[in-house]
Amino acid sequence: MLEGLNDHTPGRCARALLAALCLLANLAHAQGSLDEKLAKIDDTGRYVPEKALAELLKLEAGARSAPPPTKTKFLLLKSFMLRQLGQKVESLALAEEVLAFGRAQHDNVIVSKGMLSKAFTLQVMDRFKESQDLVLEAEKVANTTGDLRVRSDMTTSAAEVYAAAGNFPLALAKEQAGLMLARQSGVPQTILDALESMAGLYMQMKEYGKAAEMIDEALALAEKIGSPGRMAGVKALESSLASDTKQPARARDALLVALEIERKLGAEAMVTSTLVDLADSYLKAQDYQSTLRYSMEAMTRAQRVGDATTVATAQVNLGEAYLAMGRVAEGKRNMEAGLAYFEKSGDKPYLQSLLLEFGDALEHAGDLPAALAAYHRERALSNELFEKQRQKAIYELQEKYEADKRQRQIELLRRENEVKSAEINNRRLQQRVWWLLALVFALAAVIVGLLYRKVRQANAQLEVKNLELKAQSSRDPLTALYNRRHFQEFMRTHTQVEKRGAGTSGEEIVGALFLLDVDHFKHVNDTYGHAAGDAVLRMIADNLRVVLRETDMIVRWGGEEFLAFLPAIPRSGVEEIARRLLGGISSHTIEYQDNKISVNVSIGFAPFPLVPGDHPLPWERAVNLVDMALYLAKAHGRNRAYGVRGFANFDQTSMESIEQDLERAWRAGFVDLSIVLGGWTENAPEEAEAPLVQAAALGAS
Ligand code: GH3
Ligand code: MG
Ligand code: MG
Repeated sequence: MLEGLNDHTPGRCARALLAALCLLANLAHAQGSLDEKLAKIDDTGRYVPEKALAELLKLEAGARSAPPPTKTKFLLLKSFMLRQLGQKVESLALAEEVLAFGRAQHDNVIVSKGMLSKAFTLQVMDRFKESQDLVLEAEKVANTTGDLRVRSDMTTSAAEVYAAAGNFPLALAKEQAGLMLARQSGVPQTILDALESMAGLYMQMKEYGKAAEMIDEALALAEKIGSPGRMAGVKALESSLASDTKQPARARDALLVALEIERKLGAEAMVTSTLVDLADSYLKAQDYQSTLRYSMEAMTRAQRVGDATTVATAQVNLGEAYLAMGRVAEGKRNMEAGLAYFEKSGDKPYLQSLLLEFGDALEHAGDLPAALAAYHRERALSNELFEKQRQKAIYELQEKYEADKRQRQIELLRRENEVKSAEINNRRLQQRVWWLLALVFALAAVIVGLLYRKVRQANAQLEVKNLELKAQSSRDPLTALYNRRHFQEFMRTHTQVEKRGAGTSGEEIVGALFLLDVDHFKHVNDTYGHAAGDAVLRMIADNLRVVLRETDMIVRWGGEEFLAFLPAIPRSGVEEIARRLLGGISSHTIEYQDNKISVNVSIGFAPFPLVPGDHPLPWERAVNLVDMALYLAKAHGRNRAYGVRGFANFDQTSMESIEQDLERAWRAGFVDLSIVLGGWTENAPEEAEAPLVQAAALGAS
């Protein structure tokens, strides 16, 4: 065919294409007819498996080489037929084949179908637990696919497993899901299957109204499909409902209709099951003869195809009929046999209802111990079922509680986490604060250290400055001699200078005050200028330092006045000092701008302390007296020194009177003055005299 497509001749190409299309069409037709045939067998096969199997086997060769869906359909049908005909092992083998095929094809639709088929076969092989587990697994696998029909079938089958275990809430949920899927698929057969299954569950739950609704819909649908087999099935269900709702006549009528259809169809299996139901119906109507007849036929047929469930049901019915007829031994034997099967099958709710019936029948038959035993068994089962429900409820509650608890724990953990992270943040913050504080402290320490050093330096500088300042404040800037303030301070802080006692020569040692004033100094300033005057003052200071000792205090007392305080000299040496002072200053000449300048001084002096009477004079008054002596020296011709040597006849005068006029006191002989004359100089304008010391007291001159 590929060669044909590659051919260049148009005629040949067309012919080849046509042939290929024809071949495809034939294949499709063959395929179509195969599927159709299989569908037909599916319909009749449900009711007449022997005939259906024969027809099916004719299609085997074609079906096995057909595409997967067709092949699967074939295998499933064959498994089903064989099961119906009691060939359980063969049926199981075929179901396994479907399963393996599905797995090889990686097709979960096929896998789940294989599983369900296997489950059904296992059930008729009385391997109930395996069967139920497989149904539930098949449902899971089916739900991984998008095939609505398969999913509906599997879900409905799972519902039946749950219902058999007495878990009605889950069973109902599954039934509803199954019906919904069926309706979505839109396939009438599938919807019918789901409706029948759900009606069965509602009847088990004694929800008869809802069961009736399901059955009505199913009847209408079966009519529409036009399948007698399916109609018979629904009729059987209708009968069952009628019987449960205490409408025995309607129940029997429906069964008789079903039986007629089934016999016509040759649907052996269905006939058998209807026979069982009819027997049950007659049992309830207390028509024990009919019960026996229908039960016997049902049992024979069921035994022939190995349908254990039907055999057991028939046995139960037979047993009840026998018991009612008073044939207790036969009744008990059949009943026990039937019950044994249902005990094994695990359909506990059904077993419970059977035990109740058994107990009633035994009671009626008068076998009270056996009746009691049956009731006990029923009670035990009832309790077990109740316990199961209760446990389920508890389990659900626990689940919810656990979920709540977990939620709470999660919430708790979340909060704990929040608290923890808040704590961590807090700690981090604290750490930062501590670091910052440490940094601040370190910086502060450094700053304080620096400041401390600065302060120390400043203090040291301040001390130096203070010393300087002190020196400055106690010194005269021009001459560097002590100033008047320093002297005053000195005198205040030094206690009254005492009498000095005697020197080495045995002579008295005294202190002495000398006050000097430059003669005609104004003239120097006026003649040579102020700066020259300053130079003269400096020169005088230098001379004073030369003439006097280190221990003597030399003070610049005023403008051109100097004071010298000699703390310790022999009394006879005072005049000599005066003489040296006069000479030391006047003998010196300074050169200033080509001018030679020299000056004389006048001096007032006195020993210190001065003791005119019993008490020494305060230093101020002593200085005042010396100043008065200086005034006298000036007045008497300058360039000379007048010293107060002592007092005489002090009882005839007073210190105040002496201080008022020294010259008068001197002339009156109250004061003893010594006069030292300076040498002659050019500058001394008046009374130039040769220096001499008049040691004698001068009377009135
Ligand atoms: P006397 O012999 O009577 O003392 O005459 P004198 O000119 O010295 O006295 P007076 O009191 O009339 O003049 C003192 C002068 O000394 C006046 C003043 O200008 C001057 N003087 C005072 N202090 C200073 C100073 O520090 N430097 C200079 N150059 N002159 C000064
Ligand atoms: Mg003066
Ligand atoms: Mg003067």
